[in-house]
Amino acid sequence: MSLIDVVIQGVQILMSEKRDAVVQKIRELHQRLIDAYGEEQQDQDEKVDPVATLANTILSQNTNDSNRDLAYQQLRARFSTWEAVRDAPEKEVVEAIRPAGLAPTKGPRIQEALRTITEQQGEISLTFLRDMPLEEAKAWLRNLNGVGPKTASIVLLFALGRAAFPVDTHVHRVSKRLGLIPKTASREQAHDLLEDLVPQKAYYAFHLNLINHGRAICKARSPDCEACMLSDCCCYYQGSIK
Ligand code: SF4
Repeated sequence: MSLIDVVIQGVQILMSEKRDAVVQKIRELHQRLIDAYGEEQQDQDEKVDPVATLANTILSQNTNDSNRDLAYQQLRARFSTWEAVRDAPEKEVVEAIRPAGLAPTKGPRIQEALRTITEQQGEISLTFLRDMPLEEAKAWLRNLNGVGPKTASIVLLFALGRAAFPVDTHVHRVSKRLGLIPKTASREQAHDLLEDLVPQKAYYAFHLNLINHGRAICKARSPDCEACMLSDCCCYYQGSIK
């Protein structure tokens, strides 16, 4: 074995040891978050329409939950089917979803997604994504205008029970502070990094509890580190990252 091979092997061993340590840390954090916020279980019997999840998630971009919910309710009250949303005059859809903000952008995106689904599947249904290889399913969704990694992962995890880990602003911030991902990791990179590190069976509850923690304690501007049950594991609190 040449010197260069020995060096490469040494780096690989160090990297795998570091990865193992982060995975172990995630297991510990997962349990503490469950102790604090509970463990929400994914109801496998509950029938969630992935098209509804897609539309809802597009509506949720850059707004809060109550505005998203109001816009979604208005959309469903005004149009009885997704076909009706697809075929409606654009201004009527925009009007219905106005509470979500950015309605002139989100309305056409939802209609375009519905048209693309129809063209490619012959109906408005995304259940075919349940059986598609995961990376293909992600790529299919991300080909829709306005659908990024977060929206695609939410549809896959929440509506289709697939092994995708969505990263929103809270998950991104808290993961970086805890040192689970590099502080320079983009939101897009964080999807792949966390998907690799978090045990698959923990995706659902860990994702939700990082959001709970980001909202309750690890807030963007003023994290309440003194009240935090994770401070002894936190790189931000320990001062190793700013
Ligand atoms: S110690 Fe502070 S920065 Fe770290 S996770 Fe807790 S609240 Fe966030």
